[in-house]
Amino acid sequence: MDTFDSHSLDRDYIFLQDNHLKQLSQDDLVQLLDDYYNSDNKVVDILSRHHLSMRPGDLSRELPYIKIEERCPYDNSRLLEQIPSKTRTQNWLNNKICRQCGHTVYYQTNYLCDCFGCQEKRSEFRDDLAKMGTKISKQKKDYQKLSLESKVDLSAFIKMDNNPFGYRKVGVTHKNTDTGFLITESLKEQKLIYPSRDNDPEDFDKIDFKSMSYRGNWEEINWELNIKVLNYDYRQTLDTVEYMMLNQDLDDFEVESLYRKIAIESLTNYFLYSTEFLSYATPSKETVQQVVQELLSEYTPEMFLETILSTLHNYDLLAKNREKLFEKKGFMNLVQNEIKKTKKSKGTGRPAEKRSIEAAELLSDPKADAFFENVVDDPAWMGKMIPAENDSAQKLPAHELEAMIDYVEDDISIIPEELAGAKSYSITEHGILVNYKLGTIMYSDQLSLYKLAKEKNLLSEGSDWWSTNGFNFTVEKFYSLKFLLELAKTLTNSNIKQK
Ligand SMILES: [Zn+2]
Ligand SMILES: [Zn+2]
Repeated sequence: MDTFDSHSLDRDYIFLQDNHLKQLSQDDLVQLLDDYYNSDNKVVDILSRHHLSMRPGDLSRELPYIKIEERCPYDNSRLLEQIPSKTRTQNWLNNKICRQCGHTVYYQTNYLCDCFGCQEKRSEFRDDLAKMGTKISKQKKDYQKLSLESKVDLSAFIKMDNNPFGYRKVGVTHKNTDTGFLITESLKEQKLIYPSRDNDPEDFDKIDFKSMSYRGNWEEINWELNIKVLNYDYRQTLDTVEYMMLNQDLDDFEVESLYRKIAIESLTNYFLYSTEFLSYATPSKETVQQVVQELLSEYTPEMFLETILSTLHNYDLLAKNREKLFEKKGFMNLVQNEIKKTKKSKGTGRPAEKRSIEAAELLSDPKADAFFENVVDDPAWMGKMIPAENDSAQKLPAHELEAMIDYVEDDISIIPEELAGAKSYSITEHGILVNYKLGTIMYSDQLSLYKLAKEKNLLSEGSDWWSTNGFNFTVEKFYSLKFLLELAKTLTNSNIKQK
């Protein structure tokens, strides 16, 4: 935000139109401005002292322009800006105008300049955008081959687009992550959508036509669908995508995973939002996600949500736990305890169906809506148990996976040295155990060990769960599959005893 120095007033003033102030000499004008900005005199009195017959309210509108440092991108002349009204000197924000070509930088961001230079630039930009679009759309994606999640995202995306404001406002529950933004981002990354040719350069922060990479204000951008459905025209394709109309057999496993993912995501966001709302220490998203994931195996989303709400409104309970609430997991632990207490003691007198529809509305986001309208047609899903997680697909929190990838050993040439001093070994379902004089080392990959740690309830807070004392072996690193196979081969062909 610019500021206007109202103490150095002897400047070059420019009037773009005839007005009352234009008639004054430079000295009179400076005198008047000094009175206006730097005295407590009323505007009426100032005007009469300078023999000006105008309405006091018009003064700020008739103030002159000055040249500012910023220059016109088309002819390099310095831009003009009207000096601010008295109350706006610290917050000086007016249109910036080029006197040569009329180029205007509007202070309202939704106004676009229509000068010749800008029109030219826009039309060049649109030509480039069209070329990029043609390139991307040469490889239209086959709708049938998309993942279920992409299809749900696409459906949600088109429904959002029916909103005249572009984005659907996703409600207070999603302040933390704007689901609409994430959907757009993901579809754009997969090149399932691309910006149409009618966009304005102002809506992009960055665009590189060569590498076809761009970032921008997704809410303002118009998109084109990069999808094909055999023998369908654009309109039919659009309908197919919006209502997910192809009668394909859905993969049960895929449906259930997405069901869980959507329920967990919605509840996690709601949880984080509630914590933020209380302004206590906020636990990390991964932590909340993990708790939600665990609780959903025993409780319905509706029970979960109602407990959050009743805890939020239970002032006695909050007051009693005031201290705890300032801990990172404070509110979460409280809700967790409450949900265990109130298990199955639901008697609010309203039909469960009705309550869960209300709950679903509270957690409503475009993705959940699209899923529960098109895939599992179930408005009352909140009142039901979320399908159990498939054991073989336990999901690792992203930060743990990231931390572990740094530890993966892939260099098989170190195996002989590694096995020096080994006494015996055993090959187990979780990995290869090698006994040395000083102890046992586990050679395994991260996922198998994570699963073992989870089964044994050894997962602690933080990212280095593998250094737990709960294992009767040491985990120094993780190993690639190639490394493990080679290690097993070397051990079997060696003199080291198998136990
Ligand atoms: Zn200009
Ligand atoms: Zn312009």
